[in-house]
Amino acid sequence: MIDLHTHLGGAVPAAVLWEILCDSGLQMEFESFDALQKFLSIDPGSVTSLDDFVGRYFQASEFIQSSPHAASTAVYHLVAKAYRRSKLEAVEVRYNPVKRLRRGLHSIDSIVMATIQGLQRASMHYPVRTGIIFSLGRELSIDSNWEIIDTAVCIKRRRPLMGAYGLVGIDLAGPESRRNEADPDWIREAVKMVEKARSENLGVTWHVGETSHTGPELMIKAIEHIQPDRIGHGIELRNAAGKEKERLCQLLREKEICLEICPSVNLVTKSIGDISEIADLVRFCHRENIRYTINTDNPYLIHTNLRREFKIVARALGPDAGLLDQAHQTAREATFLQP
Ligand SMILES: [Zn+2]
Repeated sequence: MIDLHTHLGGAVPAAVLWEILCDSGLQMEFESFDALQKFLSIDPGSVTSLDDFVGRYFQASEFIQSSPHAASTAVYHLVAKAYRRSKLEAVEVRYNPVKRLRRGLHSIDSIVMATIQGLQRASMHYPVRTGIIFSLGRELSIDSNWEIIDTAVCIKRRRPLMGAYGLVGIDLAGPESRRNEADPDWIREAVKMVEKARSENLGVTWHVGETSHTGPELMIKAIEHIQPDRIGHGIELRNAAGKEKERLCQLLREKEICLEICPSVNLVTKSIGDISEIADLVRFCHRENIRYTINTDNPYLIHTNLRREFKIVARALGPDAGLLDQAHQTAREATFLQP
């Protein structure tokens, strides 16, 4: 099994974050392990949206992961846990390095090198291939996002070691309510960033169509301008209609773009009301010959792992569960961890 879509901010157990917090002596509001664990134990009923989910939990976990030692430890445990839970053969870990600098105390290079080392160590201890995807931030300034791209270009030239491929791609994440793709100035700049990353053979994945804020219209816009290899979520495809639906399907099919579907988090953030919506989307993708994979997104925060994600979609598919076999093969083809 391969997980193409997992966020470092939402994939590290509270026990690991607590250890980092205590060892680093960070001043935070959590006075005990129980307090931190309670904070990170999401009550799915209380999450109102993706913006709410991202705003509520990530600042704390990203802040704790904000030192070279912390970042290295965090990625290590993400891989170790994913292997123990789902016997993953490969995982692509995405994070935003600028959000881990502890307000400029650390350099971006030190954080990135530490995550590469942490993943190399994980690949030595567990038979898992790993790669890093840098997430740009929808809510960050153009300058900050350029800093991420420039770092990506510098880092890319490192060779893989022990199954740890280092930096393999870039992404855009953050609150979709900002609808960045609708802003012509923003998208023009984003295209330049993506072109620069692509010139270094970095893969491009793009969170879009996770919520109705970036529905079919902005999915089409993102594909036409950014031309991503993969799309983070893209489940708004199910709400496309008429000519827009035809156009979106045609683009996804012709450009062989792979949707990174992450079922449970869509439920938690109320992007879907029921897993049956994902099952219907899977059937639709098969009918329309659109590529997709199943992934975890934030396995710790939403109490899941890749095996479980496949299981819940299979259950919802019932007699059509066999369709999911194709998702494993697609992940092998669509991963940025290519020899
Ligand atoms: Zn995501």
